[in-house]
Amino acid sequence: MDETQKQPTLVLMFGATGDLARRKLYQALYQLYKNNQEFAVIGLARRPHTHLSFRSLVSDSITPDEEHIGDFLNRFYYQPLDIEQPESFVSLKKLSDEIDIRYHLGGNRIFYLSLAPRFFTLAAQNLKRAGLTDTVGWKHLVIEKPFGHDLPSATKLNEDLLDVFDEKEIYRIDHYLGKEMVQNIEALRFANPIFESVWNHRHISNVQITSSETLGVGERANYYDQTGALLDMVQNHMMQMVALTAMEPPGRFDTEDIRDEKVKVFKSIRPMSAESISSQIVRGQYTSGVLSDGSVVKGYRDEDNIDSKSNTETFVAARFYIDNYRWSGVPFYVRTGKRMTAKSTEIVVQFKDIPKNPYFYHFEDVKPNLLVIHIQPDEGLSLKLNVKQFNETGNTMPISMKFSNNSGTSDYGAGAYVRLLSDCFKGDSTNFTRWDEVAYSWSLMDSIVAVWKENKVPLDFYEAGSMGPASSDQLLARDGFRWWPLTSTE
Ligand code: NAP
Repeated sequence: MDETQKQPTLVLMFGATGDLARRKLYQALYQLYKNNQEFAVIGLARRPHTHLSFRSLVSDSITPDEEHIGDFLNRFYYQPLDIEQPESFVSLKKLSDEIDIRYHLGGNRIFYLSLAPRFFTLAAQNLKRAGLTDTVGWKHLVIEKPFGHDLPSATKLNEDLLDVFDEKEIYRIDHYLGKEMVQNIEALRFANPIFESVWNHRHISNVQITSSETLGVGERANYYDQTGALLDMVQNHMMQMVALTAMEPPGRFDTEDIRDEKVKVFKSIRPMSAESISSQIVRGQYTSGVLSDGSVVKGYRDEDNIDSKSNTETFVAARFYIDNYRWSGVPFYVRTGKRMTAKSTEIVVQFKDIPKNPYFYHFEDVKPNLLVIHIQPDEGLSLKLNVKQFNETGNTMPISMKFSNNSGTSDYGAGAYVRLLSDCFKGDSTNFTRWDEVAYSWSLMDSIVAVWKENKVPLDFYEAGSMGPASSDQLLARDGFRWWPLTSTE
């Protein structure tokens, strides 16, 4: 893993004029450049640019500091390229070889496909045909989400990519795995014996993972209406957070051992019958409503570029069981949605209640202990405990012990991409998803989609600005639980 650390690299940035590149990737590269990572970049897209006009696009996309910016921008080159025209890959090879020699990059190449998914296979095939993947250095393919739209399409895409790259050379991005507090789940669990010793069904009653947005569909309407919250959020980000929260400690903290443990979690998720899918997975769609800032917003079906009869879900709440020794009987609830009360991603671990012994009910109003991992926008932890009310006997009051990461590591919102790109330069794929993780997750999602397609599961509506439909609350209420309020709305 270390042999590639900080090795000079050529980055071939496909989709160089696109939203993701401009909002995140150039800022991330700038941060890495300031951290002494050596590289040169060839930007690739159809629209015409000179090297100079491309450099000014890159410059406009970042928050520069004068000292470094000139040399950084001079490393950016541009070549107009249409993925569907293989001949443009021939001139790309020539330019790549030249830049490789000019910057002594040793043939190390990152092919970053920041492209619409329909181009992933063709891009890889054209890279191979033009000889760009025959390089004396190492090569890594970075591939954005979504990786397929169901198990068969993901399998086909994977087979196509394996014709060109080895599994170890494929870096499937799930940018949640680059988030500071998602990466911190392992440290929190495995570097703190006080947590690891109670991290099981004997002490934990349920786990709640929420990722809520206040935004509607916005400019992603076309894509979103064909995708929905289940495939956009649950298949990847939410299931990855379930796996990291639930996995066993790996034998060794190396890439494959960690991924093996995550896969074991996916394999242990209880398969669901059509009936249990109907009762355990809530699908919702927002109607018009008022957001917490007072703005009045349209319902989903009235949004631009959305079919007025669309049944696409903008909200999902689900209950999963992980049938292994550690998690026997512990529900994992996940929920995600658009146009909700607040933007927040957090994991709440609820510990079991005190024993039902009359003596203990001497204390009134005892709340369950909660460990909350704040992933975004706040980064930190809080532990909710009960203490005696001051100057009173008998009654308790809840308190919260908090750790907040104020280190300013957000890198203008590109923090996750800084970490993930840095790993990709180093050849560390731990925080990228391995094919079997993706496949298990798709197979679970496919079973849900198949039942939804039969229209047996109702689409439940919720007002924009709320925390989802009533059925989401009922899902937990049936088990004697409730969603804990998001920390930002407490
Ligand atoms: P985008 O704004 O639509 O950009 C697409 C890029 O592809 C543009 O640079 C476009 O440039 C280029 N392109 C289109 N057709 C091409 C062709 N035939 N040959 C060569 N280049 C072509 O998309 P995006 O939002 O950046 O998303 C890129 C990828 O990242 C997608 O897979 C998306 O799902 C994923 N992603 C994006 C975000 C985000 O926040 N944007 C977040 C997570 C994942 P030209 O028009 O000049 O060719």
